[in-house]
Amino acid sequence: MSYLVLARKWRPQSFEDLLGQEHVCKTLTNAIHQERLAHAFLFCGPRGIGKTSAARILAKTLVCPKSKDGKPCNQCSICDEIFKGSSVDVIEIDGASNNGVDSIRELRERANYLPTQGHYKIYIIDEVHMLSQSAFNALLKILEEPPAHLKFIFATTEVHKIPATILSRCQRFDFKKIPLKTLADHLDKISKKENIEVEKDALLKISKVAQGSFRDALSLLDQAISFSGPKITLRHIQDILRSLNEETLFELLEKIFKKESQETFTLLSKIYQEEPDTKQIASELLEYVRSLLLIKIAPENTLELTDSEHARLKEISSLVSLEELEMSFQTLLRGTQDMAQTLYPQFVFEMTLIKLLQLKPLMRLEELIERVETLHQRSSSEFHHPPTTDRWRKIVEVVKNQKPSLAALLEHGYLVEWSNQKLTIGFPKESVFYKLLSEKENMTALETIISEHLKTKITVTITDVITGSDSHLPNLIKNDEHHIAQLKKKALENEIIQEAQKVFNGKIIDVKIQKNPGDKT
Ligand SMILES: [Zn+2]
Repeated sequence: MSYLVLARKWRPQSFEDLLGQEHVCKTLTNAIHQERLAHAFLFCGPRGIGKTSAARILAKTLVCPKSKDGKPCNQCSICDEIFKGSSVDVIEIDGASNNGVDSIRELRERANYLPTQGHYKIYIIDEVHMLSQSAFNALLKILEEPPAHLKFIFATTEVHKIPATILSRCQRFDFKKIPLKTLADHLDKISKKENIEVEKDALLKISKVAQGSFRDALSLLDQAISFSGPKITLRHIQDILRSLNEETLFELLEKIFKKESQETFTLLSKIYQEEPDTKQIASELLEYVRSLLLIKIAPENTLELTDSEHARLKEISSLVSLEELEMSFQTLLRGTQDMAQTLYPQFVFEMTLIKLLQLKPLMRLEELIERVETLHQRSSSEFHHPPTTDRWRKIVEVVKNQKPSLAALLEHGYLVEWSNQKLTIGFPKESVFYKLLSEKENMTALETIISEHLKTKITVTITDVITGSDSHLPNLIKNDEHHIAQLKKKALENEIIQEAQKVFNGKIIDVKIQKNPGDKT
């Protein structure tokens, strides 16, 4: 007996066997059960996930004389013929190679003949989106007035290419990609029945490469069996796929994130011997950086990763910040795009790696905000300390002559306002001198000394700068060109400003003196 490839041998025979398409199967089975069947069905979805198999199962269910509860018998000659594609009443047409109007006209003529055995004559048109416009028009004519015995099952990977007039006459079913774990579990069952021992990671790798396609996964498993016999490891699969050993790429990523330039390029020269296609290396790196990003956000293995890949990537993700990963992703993405458009992809790839090596570990945003806030607070209390005006110096001098201890306190304050026999003195927020001076005894002494000196009654109030009084400050420096220049110089020399420059890696272009919003000048 000749060898039957796995994909054919394990082709689903009933709706229950269809992997990952429970939603479609349930609706179809119900529709059959309730005899609410459209004249045309449209099966959409990616390749290799069971659309054609589902079409054949549906055809069998409709045609098989022994079908029951939405299930074909899968025993009779009719079922067998449909399975083999040799039935007279179930006709399969490849839309890609029979896309002309003549094929559809011929179909139309033959469709009028009654079925030879069952109640239905069924046309399965695969890749129906490949039909020409005139072929679609001819098809539409049949769909507008279909003979009772006629059913169409269309399958397509590109539903958007099908005219709306056709779509509106079809009962549509969307097939989904088979989830990685479902596919891997199913492969596991099949390999056990085939007496083949396959490593768990190898099964996951096959499922991942197959991208949700059952057919592709089984073909790859077939290849692996011919390559390595009944015992299949992850390494075998990697050899078949000619894909790089994951660990090599993990090491490369580690060296990049550790900014080990020399080691990165030493390893790269070794990688070139194994995989000379830099586009392939770049796209695999991009995929892993994407995984690292997702692991950083959601550490559980929700990705299509093998357990060992997940564990290793989790380890690598601890080397980098989320921000650096985001930047690495963008850099690699741009690199792969540039590589696609150049005659020198290897050079572009190497430049991309250099860029990655030069990405600076970034400060977390929260940390940055925290530092800016600290700076802001410090600058409010320290930097805005106003110039000591001559007038203020005189007041302090007068007090000093009478009561030196009081003057010592005043030296830490400054003149905020002096008008209508009111003197306002400012102090930095939470200043101890503010507290000492605000004691009643000191305030009275101060008022007395100043009132006596000026020979008029003066009221003294004290305030701290944070509670809104610092808006008075610009009044002191108004129209004072020389003073502004001094302030700017002082600002540039200020330790806080210099630190801020470092934090933002910036340059100071200009210093603006903040003015009172109500100030007209
Ligand atoms: Zn049957």
